[in-house]
This record gives sequence, C-alpha cells and structure tokens, in this order.
Amino acid sequence: MKEKHYGDFAQALVDWFTAHGRDYPWRRTTNPWAILVSEIMLQQTTIATVLGRYEAWLAQFPTPAALAAADEQTALRSWEGLGYYRRVRALRAAAIAICEKHGGTFPENEGDIRALPGIGDYTVGALLSFAYNRPAPLVDANVSRVFARVFNDSTPIDSPTGRKRHWQLAAQLVHPTNPRAYNSALMELGQTICTTGSPTCLLCPVRAYCTASAPETLPVKLPKKEITALEHWDIWHLTESGLLMEKQPGGKRHEGMYRLPRRSAEELADLPHLCDQKYTVTRYKVTRHLYLAETATPRRGECFIPLADLPTTPMASPDRKLVEKYIS
Ligand code: SF4
Repeated sequence: MKEKHYGDFAQALVDWFTAHGRDYPWRRTTNPWAILVSEIMLQQTTIATVLGRYEAWLAQFPTPAALAAADEQTALRSWEGLGYYRRVRALRAAAIAICEKHGGTFPENEGDIRALPGIGDYTVGALLSFAYNRPAPLVDANVSRVFARVFNDSTPIDSPTGRKRHWQLAAQLVHPTNPRAYNSALMELGQTICTTGSPTCLLCPVRAYCTASAPETLPVKLPKKEITALEHWDIWHLTESGLLMEKQPGGKRHEGMYRLPRRSAEELADLPHLCDQKYTVTRYKVTRHLYLAETATPRRGECFIPLADLPTTPMASPDRKLVEKYIS
C-alpha cells in the first residue's frame, strides 16, 4: 500500500467497524479501569469465557481502590476459572500503584500509564485509544497478520525487524480522530476476515489497498526452535501439615516459586503412580511422572504448605493445575 492511501485505509476500517463491529461490554465503556481489566482478562482467555466473567468481576472490583483494598487471596479467588493467576496479581499491583501514586484516579499521561506494573506497549496503546481516544499505535498478533498481508511483507513478524516495522506502521496508520474505532477494527479484521490460513478477502473492507499476492502464505514467522523432550519424576505427599513442596532457589527460572518435590525414577519405583502430566515450556516438551508418597522426609528447600495457603502460594501453572485437580 502506498503512503498516500494510509488515510483512506484507516477510514475504510472505521466505516466498516461502525457498521459491523461486534458489541462487547468493554466496547461500551471508556472507563480506563474497566478497559484495563478487559485487556488483562483477554490476554490468555477466550472472549467467550471473559464474556461470562467480566461484568461480575467488575461489580466486585469496580475501581482500582476496590481491588487494592482486597487481600491477595480474595483477588486470586475472584480469578478462578480464568487461569494464569499472575495476571490478577499484576492487576492488583497496578491498582495499588494507582492508589498510592495517583490517589485512586486512573492516570491519563502516557508515561504514568507505562510506569504501572505489568503494563506493556500493547496495553498502553489499548488504554490510550480505547479509553481516551488518543491516536496511539497498537499491535497484536491479529494486527501483525493484517499488516504483513496488506504490505505483502515476508519479514518474520516475530523478528526484531518485523516487530519494529509493524509498530512504526501502526503509528503511521492510526486514524487521527477515531483511533478507538480504528484500533478495534484492525484487530477485528484479523479475528474475523483476515484470519490465519485462508482469509475471506471477498468480504474485506480494505481489499482495495491490500497488496498481498498470496495472503495464505503470510505472515512469515521465524523457524521454531527445536523441541527437546524432558522427563521428571515428582511426588505428591499430602499430610495433615499440608502439601510437601520445594521452593525454587535463586538463579532458577521460577525463583521464589514452589513446585512438587523432585526425585529420581529409581526412588519412586515402588510407589503408586498418580498421573502423567505433559506440558511445554519454551523449547522443552516436559513429561512429569507423579507418584503418591505416603511418607517422605523433607529435603533441603522442601516444606509443607498448609492447604489454606496453597491458593496464595506462588507456583508455575503445571503445579497449579495439579493442586487444583487434587485439592478442591
Ligand atoms: S484483502 Fe485479504 S489478505 Fe488483504 S487484508 Fe483483506 S482479508 Fe487480509
């Protein structure tokens, strides 16, 4: 697309969105707190799940002050079913910062928003455009796919060059007077028409500006790193004192977090097998073999976590899933 068409491209998207944009509760508000909550919820949870929880959650915590005043356990419980609990911890940290540094009023200044805990470039763009209707760039996976196709660009979208280019384009293209509708439109185009695989170009509101010669081949991503298989043998040892867990020492990826204690396969050979858990972490495909231990002597770094403390005990999601599965 030529630069002289940028304005027409942005206007075509706004017009399309005005006529066909989907109606979500977070699109009916300009309250920055409500918008931040929706953006955090939508990061790793489907729209359908968020729709079922969003309004009730906001009724419980209608302001940053309401969440800042809640203890961490209450906040974590409110997030049940949404997963990835570090998000509600980050949201609570942002709420506390808003109360401590801005008297409970959501900041409007970009620098102040950026300084809030857990807020990255995407969320800054979302808050500035959706809450304050300011022409701020915003790039997510959907936007990157649209840009790669419209500009027929085969630079890997997850490379530093690709990312930089798309953020620059987003800043150049954003609609000057209706960035709220424009940014929503761009993301919605990627979700509904310019989708992964084969896009529905016949229905596309910006096909006149699109230069993709083979859109189904775009976007290009960097080659995936080779996956390495890993196996671990862990124990599940639950007593009246609580669940035996190991605190990760400094220098480890999950420093300060807890996990189920690790043993060698030989040590567990005679114990009942509880389950196998499979998950992927970065480039590792992990299989965890979990065994039921009726007795176990805590080793260095291991301790019993009382059941009541488990919801607020920091642990990686595979451990959290097992705790939630076996301790209701
Ligand atoms: S014309 Fe097709 S490839 Fe181009 S932006 Fe529209 S949907 Fe995507």
